[in-house]
Amino acid sequence: MEIIDSTTPEVSIVIPLYNEEQVLPTLIERLNLLRKSADIRFEFVLIDDGSSDDTAAIIRSVGLTDPGYKTVFLSRNFGHQIAVSVGMAEATASRAVMIIDGDLQDPPELVFDFYRKIKEGFEIVYAVRKTRKEHFVKRFMYKSFYRILNAIIDIKIPLDSGDFCMISRRVNDILVSMPEQNRFVRGLRGWVGFRQYGYEYDRAERFAGKSKYSLKKLFQLAYDGIYNFSEFPLKIILKLGVFTLSVSFVYFLYIVAKKIFYPDSVPQGFPTIIIFLIFFCGVQLVCLGIMAEYLSRIHKEVKSRPLYIIKSKIENTTEIPIPRQWDAQ
Ligand code: UDP
Ligand code: MG
Repeated sequence: MEIIDSTTPEVSIVIPLYNEEQVLPTLIERLNLLRKSADIRFEFVLIDDGSSDDTAAIIRSVGLTDPGYKTVFLSRNFGHQIAVSVGMAEATASRAVMIIDGDLQDPPELVFDFYRKIKEGFEIVYAVRKTRKEHFVKRFMYKSFYRILNAIIDIKIPLDSGDFCMISRRVNDILVSMPEQNRFVRGLRGWVGFRQYGYEYDRAERFAGKSKYSLKKLFQLAYDGIYNFSEFPLKIILKLGVFTLSVSFVYFLYIVAKKIFYPDSVPQGFPTIIIFLIFFCGVQLVCLGIMAEYLSRIHKEVKSRPLYIIKSKIENTTEIPIPRQWDAQ
């Protein structure tokens, strides 16, 4: 059982930072203001994701002087999703953990609204972007990605929601203990279930500096989303194989019919080659599809996600209090 005393923070705010020296002074100012405007005990967890600018130096000095800040320095740039995961593992707040970007696109002030929802009993409050102020190409890519993802994955990932969210301590513990290596935090967050609330907001522009998500990183994120939460790419192989085999069969019937009714119009040998070609392509695809089926099972096993997560139990007419730690097997 966790001991909660008057110094344990109630809410942790996790912020991954990669070369954000231009934004940091304003970010820290706004975080400090949060403490002034409410009697919630905050903990700010800042993660330096191997920045090459002054980010590390700035947050080091904040961490050394202000006990409300926990600062973590990674040995190199591991990427946004890992940096967020580090922050979640380091967060010590008793009630909730909020995840925001460091560039002030996600207003930290929403912490109060989000926390209210958590107190109402929601375990996850995720932000939904009503509008975005980014370049239309990026907006279009994001929009299409989430729609494609939702069409092919087994769980529901809320449309137009990023990592900006607040989760209860319990959900934080569950997510931290998931052993997945390729982390797609917003997917895992959708996967755990519980009562979730989508909070609509207008996404601001980055306060200063450039996006740290290169096109390559963005595609990597999209791949992680698709391959970690969908078996569609593997399953499609078998379907393609069956389709190809059917084509070769139909073509075969067509040639036989033609040979019977118009024997002179069918050239010698040529249709046989075509039929064999399509047929063996089909056979190969079906074989690959079978392998893919095994691979998908291995893939599921190695992800080692818990089979289920119990929300609550009733025993002897008494509701068992929801355990802090996840009790999934
Ligand atoms: N970030 C990070 N590591 C990276 C890339 C980004 O920690 O490798 C941080 C970055 O400092 C910011 C957040 O993740 O706080 C979101 O990045 P960014 O604003 O560049 O992404 P965008 O909003 O353009 O999608
Ligand atoms: Mg941003």
